[in-house]
Formats: sequence, structure tokens, C-alpha cells
Amino acid sequence: MAAKKKASKEGSKKEEKLGFKPTSAWDGMTKRTQNKMNKVAQEYIKFLDAGKTEREAVVYLTALLEKNGFKPLDKVKRLSVGTRVYTTNRGKNLAAVIIGSEPLENGLNIVASHVDAPRLDLKQNPLYESGDLGLALLRTHYYGGIKKYQWASIPLALHGTVILASGKTVDIVIGEKDEDPVFTITDLLPHLSGKKQNVRKLPDGIRGEELQVLVGSMPINDEKAKKKVKLFVLDYLNKNYGMVEEDFVSAELEIVPAYKAREVGLDRSLVGAYGQDDRICAFTSVMALLDVKKPKRTAMALLFDKEEIGSDGPTGVKSKYLMNTIGDLMEKKNPNYRDAGLRRSLELSMALSADVNAGVNPIFKDVHEMQNAAKIGYGIVITKFTGSGGKYMSNDATAEFVGKVRKLYNSKKVPWQAAELGKVDEGGGGTVAKFLAQHNMDVLDCGPAILAMHSPFEISSKVDIFACVNAYNAFYELK
Ligand code: MN
Ligand code: MN
Repeated sequence: MAAKKKASKEGSKKEEKLGFKPTSAWDGMTKRTQNKMNKVAQEYIKFLDAGKTEREAVVYLTALLEKNGFKPLDKVKRLSVGTRVYTTNRGKNLAAVIIGSEPLENGLNIVASHVDAPRLDLKQNPLYESGDLGLALLRTHYYGGIKKYQWASIPLALHGTVILASGKTVDIVIGEKDEDPVFTITDLLPHLSGKKQNVRKLPDGIRGEELQVLVGSMPINDEKAKKKVKLFVLDYLNKNYGMVEEDFVSAELEIVPAYKAREVGLDRSLVGAYGQDDRICAFTSVMALLDVKKPKRTAMALLFDKEEIGSDGPTGVKSKYLMNTIGDLMEKKNPNYRDAGLRRSLELSMALSADVNAGVNPIFKDVHEMQNAAKIGYGIVITKFTGSGGKYMSNDATAEFVGKVRKLYNSKKVPWQAAELGKVDEGGGGTVAKFLAQHNMDVLDCGPAILAMHSPFEISSKVDIFACVNAYNAFYELK
């Protein structure tokens, strides 16, 4: 051991000065910092358990903002330096703002993330009883990019919102409390998989229409009923939530993994949970904002929905929500504000598209080109461009803006690395960056690396969660 240490100390000074080598974020971490990091991780785990849908995430973070002095924009009369306000949109978008000393026309510092995650949505007419088997099932339509086979044979929970025939709104969460029942998708036994399932390609191991959730097997005590097991389920939903079958049509019911977020590893250095893409950035961007006092430029944490299915719809980043929110802020400051000022504000804003990148998976290293791959535990990842097939459909941030953010992270000692999503022709993906850039603002993708992305159990590193809080905090205060 001693000999090795000596050798590395005698390494080339010139190489150290001129070369680029990201170091582990664990390097030189003090006990005190480690304690702080663990506290943030515990809060994060609480959030993941409480916010398994976009609506729940927004409710949880809104309460956190309220506790820290943020008020709904329409309840605030005057905006001055340091005023904390927020707005929400249809319960699925959130913009939390701290007013800066500079005019809004000079632009905002925005950290934008998304709170939707891949899952199984119930179909509009989902419930049926399986022939003479006496089993009740719910048909689903998956949301976002999932590997369908990963959703079979795990405990599942039902979360969502139903608008009843009367117009009344009912929220449902079943499968989270220890005493709750859970649901599941029954995979085929290996003994009989040979011809039917084993010959399929992996993405078709379980097919879309096979993602059916088992919800019951007990017949209702009603002699005249034709579908007694299905009727038992309907009767349960009616007694507990006032629902009838037609109400599924006006509902957003999501099937998500039923288990809780957990610390992973003997050293408890990792967090394993569903929905970390991208609630890890939603959470850390809001946490980072809480510590901002009187920024020069107005700071905004911005949470979107629908990123996983292309960012369309009124709650996706392609809607006018951001523009309207900045307009509302300007109008509150000056009822005679000009449209030109709003356009300037958008143009002069700076944004981090806070989203996850793929950490190198030790079992499947070769989809990455290691010199430009993200490693968990190495701090926040600067991703200059995303896209696929030759940077296609990518924002590709300017060298100037990347330079600004890199300088910031170095000056604040935030551990960071630079990476692409995978090998050049391997695949690809996108974020909200290119849509924010349509306002002609500078945008850069910056978020943690995670393992097993889009799986029902994604893995992040505590040290990266902490790095994100510090990175986003520094960005809000960037002049
Ligand atoms: Mn994402
Ligand atoms: Mn994603």
C-alpha cells in the first residue's frame, strides 16, 4: 500500500496540470459533509415514497416550499428582492421563484426538471373478468420508455385521480401502506415458456397488451350477477371511492411499483427506488432553491410533466406555462409591462436542463465509450448535447455557456464530470433542453448519473445527490 501511494504522489506535475481527469466525488469528503449528505439523502427518500406520480410530487414539493416561506403568486401583493412565490399548473407543473435584485427583463436563472416517470396507465375502460377463471384484471397502456418484462412479477400499487360523474374529484392510493393489498402482473412460468415466450426478442418478453394487472379473484355474493369477481371489484371501488365503471374514463390512474425507496449497499452509499428519473433533479433543484436568499438574478425551479412522452400537452415544456409565468411575475411588478420585456427576459434567461444521464453499468460497460461516459459517484454530469444518430434533435449547448457553468462548478468546488449518453451509434435520448432553447435562451443539460434508468428500481449515488444540490444552488446565484 505504502509503495503505491508514494508512486502516485510522484506522478507528473505537468500531466496533472494539463490533463483532464474527473475525480470521485468521495475524494476528500469530510465526516461533516458526509453527515450533511446523508441528511439530504434521507429527505430525498421520504420524497420518493410520497411522490410516486407527477401530481403527488408537486403536492409534496409545494408543501415543502410553503414551509420555507414560499407563497402562491396570486396571494402576494408586491414582489421585491428575496420575495418567495410559486405557481402550479393543473397540479402537474410547479414554478418556484425567488425574486432577484436585477429587473426580470434581464432574464432568470432556471433549473428545469420533470416529475413524470415511466409507468403503466390504466386504459379508459380497463376492468374485465377473465372468462371462466374467475380472475379480475385491469388493462393498461404503458407511459414512456419501459422494458415491459421488468413490470411482471413485482408488487404494484395503484395511484391516481378520478373525476366522478358528479364532477367530484377523488384521489386514490392503494398499495403503499404495510396493511394495504398490492397488485401484480403474472409472468409465465419457465416450465411452459419454451415455445410461447422464450423465442420472443427481449422487448417482447411481455407485450403491451399483456401488461394486465391482477386485482381480484373473489366472487360477490349476488346470485343474479353475471361477472361476480368483476362486480366485487366495482363494488369495492363504489363503497370506498363512490366510483362506477364509467368513471374510469375520466380518470388518471397509474400503476407504479409498490415498494419503498431503500438505501443500497453495505455502506448505504446508494439509493434504490422507482421514479428517480427525474424526481432526483426535481427534489435537488427545489432543495437548492430553499437556501437562496437575495439573488442578483431571479431564480426559478421549474418542474414539468410529460417529458417521458415528448413534452406535449398543457403541462409539458412545449406549452406556454413558462412564458405565462414570467409574464405574470412581470405584470405583478409592473401592470404596464411590455411584451418586448417578456421576450427579452426569456432570451436572456439561463437554464440548466436538470435531468439524469446513464451511469456506466458494470455489467454492460461496452455500450459506453469510457472516455466520455458518466460514472456514478463522480458528481454532476455536464451533457453538452443529447440526441442520437449524429446529435440529431439535440440542443447542443454553446461552448460559451458550458464554459460559464464549468467555471462556476470549479469555483464552488462542485464535483462534476462531462459525458455523452452512450457510444456514438449505440442509441440516444433527449430532455427538455431543446424546447427551452426555443425561447432563444442558453440551456445546458446537467444532472446526476444513475444506473438501471427507466427500470422499476433505479440506482443513484448519495454523493451525486448532494453534488446536484450544490450545483443547482450555485447556478441560482450565478450573476
Ligand atoms: Mn429524464
Ligand atoms: Mn427518462
